[in-house]
Amino acid sequence: MPESGAAVPIRAPEALRKKLAKIGLHSEADLLVHLPLRYEDETRITPVAHAPWGEPVLVEVVVSASEVQFRPRRQMVVRALDESGELTMRFFSFYPSQQAALAVGARVRAFGEVRGGFFGAEMVHPRFHKVRDDEPLPDEMTPVYPTTAGVANSALQKLIGRALEAGDLSDTLPEELRKRLKLPALARSLRFLHRPPPGTDLDTLHARNHPAWRRVKFDEVLAQQLCLRRAYLARREQGAPVLVARDDLGARLLDGLPFALTGAQLRAMAEIAGDLAQPYPMQRLLQGDVGAGKTIVAALAACQAISAGWQAAFMAPTEILAEQHYLKLKSWLEPLGVKVAWLSGSLKSKARRAQLAATAADAQLVVGTHALIQDGVDFARLGLAIVDEQHRFGVAQRLALRKKGANPHQLMMSATPIPRTLAMSYYADLDVTVLDELPPGRTPIKTRLVADSRRADVVGFVSKLVEEGRQAYWVCPLIEESEALQLQTAEETFAQLTADLPKLRIGLVHGRLKGDEKQAVMAAFAAGEIDVLVATTVIEVGVDVPNASLMVIEHAERFGLSQLHQLRGRVGRGQYESSCVLIYAGPLGEIARQRLKIIFENTDGFEIARQDLQIRGPGEFVGSRQSGVPLLRYADLEMDADLVEMAREVAEDMLRQAPAQAERHLKRWLGTREELLKS
Ligand code: ADP
Ligand code: MG
Repeated sequence: MPESGAAVPIRAPEALRKKLAKIGLHSEADLLVHLPLRYEDETRITPVAHAPWGEPVLVEVVVSASEVQFRPRRQMVVRALDESGELTMRFFSFYPSQQAALAVGARVRAFGEVRGGFFGAEMVHPRFHKVRDDEPLPDEMTPVYPTTAGVANSALQKLIGRALEAGDLSDTLPEELRKRLKLPALARSLRFLHRPPPGTDLDTLHARNHPAWRRVKFDEVLAQQLCLRRAYLARREQGAPVLVARDDLGARLLDGLPFALTGAQLRAMAEIAGDLAQPYPMQRLLQGDVGAGKTIVAALAACQAISAGWQAAFMAPTEILAEQHYLKLKSWLEPLGVKVAWLSGSLKSKARRAQLAATAADAQLVVGTHALIQDGVDFARLGLAIVDEQHRFGVAQRLALRKKGANPHQLMMSATPIPRTLAMSYYADLDVTVLDELPPGRTPIKTRLVADSRRADVVGFVSKLVEEGRQAYWVCPLIEESEALQLQTAEETFAQLTADLPKLRIGLVHGRLKGDEKQAVMAAFAAGEIDVLVATTVIEVGVDVPNASLMVIEHAERFGLSQLHQLRGRVGRGQYESSCVLIYAGPLGEIARQRLKIIFENTDGFEIARQDLQIRGPGEFVGSRQSGVPLLRYADLEMDADLVEMAREVAEDMLRQAPAQAERHLKRWLGTREELLKS
């Protein structure tokens, strides 16, 4: 239970309270912000003859006949009249009490959609009640609340009505700020949304464009921003090792590289170096498009930790990628005297024991997969946790890595660019560095769309390319429903290409291979001993073989945009002109067509992500990172982007200048759900 301003529990029988709790309604305050999905207008009566068909209306009629028919199925058919005409009401299920209420001569108000039936105007299953003499019409619209089976709308209406009268509707925004933001008062907004007066334009309300809706959405987004911002500030209260380099390890790494860092890499490096030297834990996201060169930036961060006398961990989501990082980091750092350890699920027990022992003792950098976060892995002095392709990991996994040390610094990396509004919501508690520049000398990748009837041309193209000394990836179709089927397709493709291209050395890699088998194939491809690598999406992230200049993707229409972008990014990494051939099979669905068009027309990952967001919404974007967004019930990140910007600024000021107010605001909007946000 909240510590201050204790929540007022809902006054209702135990059984109902339990049901309400199931839909997240625990307190009176929760009821107040449980807003209607839509409204029904029972404030005016429509003459039967004038009722527009297909729109819900209220009619007032007197029953003229009522009977139960049995054909085609049991039903109660009630005929009724008003001054303008006749209405048939039809009920397929009914209680005796309802039958009695609809006896001949009864005057009732019925609410429902009028349709044209066999006997003229007809309502199926209208909501109705008997009218008393001179019963006034309601003086507000009827709210329809989001609910679940078991809680009647009428029960919610009553409880919420009571809360509106007795509950706390006081504003958490100072009046001056509210005016500046042009937002109406909260009390007025909530009363209006729960009980709109007669004559309110329901279309505007349903579209949630009304200023009252804006106020509610702003408050909701503000609560989210406050929460994330507070978590950010709270982290600064925690101690972390101060990582100040005590030798020139980083400089020596840089000296040995065959390239100079880009401006963006230098900036990122400086930002991270500054963070690591602070006495509180860094939590920074390094974003950069595929191929932007994030690995070296991470390696330099690791150098700083190592040279300060601490360990760094480097975790990657797949065995192939982790292995590749291990080999690269080892080749960079071992010559400089750094001890690098390797942990993966496929290690044999003896080797594993040795690596575990090193991790617990004198290893300075430990690279690996999820194996890093398993029980029994102990770090001697973990000072920096690096997570590559972080969106592939869940909150719990990233947390588990952090727990391997006493509050280590954390560097997360991602090539999945997040559009700005989304980033502000998902990552408001992180610092973000963007590598907005690709290393020089990259040749732009040509993208081609090819119908699968022309597969033979593509095979010919591969053959010519290999003659020129290049290598190619051939990615097999994604079969989401079945891993076994996916494997089968990969094997068939491999057999087919081996038959089509007998002179070429074809390799096959997929998720079912054992760790060392996978490594062997990847190593052979990297060494140029394999010309064409047939692969499932296991090669999607991170893999880096500069001599590979062609990416063929079969059934490209089955892949998501970020996957296509990632896969395409496997080529164009060396000095050779590179291309990506997307083979598709028709007929294409609308979304698939849009996706292929976007990937064909764009190479910039941010632009692709922005368009992707438009087609499929934010949900899938950020993987399993749980954060503020699940808590947004009313605001929409795209539509209400301006509110997010406003809320972000207000949140910062509020936490500094009016912390008690901020606290109250959070209580109102998040109540008990705030726990969800803490990761
Ligand atoms: P990503 O950001 O996708 O993880 P990588 O770190 O794998 O990218 O880098 C892609 C390739 O570019 C690697 O071969 C890497 O060595 C190389 N690279 C990184 N930085 C530079 C640079 N400044 N100049 C030239 N090549 C670079
Ligand atoms: Mg990478």
